[in-house]
Amino acid sequence: MTSIFSKIASGEIPCYKIAETKDFFAFLDINPLAEGHTLVIPKKETDYIFALDDNLLAEMFVFAKKVAKAIEKNVPCKRIGLAVIGLEVPHAHIHLIPINKVSDIDFSRPKLTPSKERLNEIALKISSSVKF
Ligand code: AMP
Repeated sequence: MTSIFSKIASGEIPCYKIAETKDFFAFLDINPLAEGHTLVIPKKETDYIFALDDNLLAEMFVFAKKVAKAIEKNVPCKRIGLAVIGLEVPHAHIHLIPINKVSDIDFSRPKLTPSKERLNEIALKISSSVKF
């Protein structure tokens, strides 16, 4: 079965897109822990991140770094925290989250529910700063 994230990467399901290459895709989490919370996925559908081929996994982190730099430029924060959970969506993904303190990356906290307008605004700002 095609994962919801594959449907997002192919454009079948809409998203707040941040960046795309031949192999990877980044988009805003719709229920973020912090403004700018972004998900990075490989287009190749694989559930578990540590089941990815070594090269693809390494390249995914380099892609995530470029996205993180663009988030940093547009969202005030001390740094970009990184997490891999994967218990909800069975398609490997890295969470990139602007943080100021350790509790900002606590997934048991209530998520934010930003408006579509705000998500669009943030996605536009971050996406226009991504440099490959
Ligand atoms: P997990 O699989 O536990 O790492 O969590 C999956 C993440 O995907 C959660 O933070 C969700 O808010 C996020 N998510 C689920 N569906 C969508 C979607 N359609 N667009 C953007 N983010 C999503």
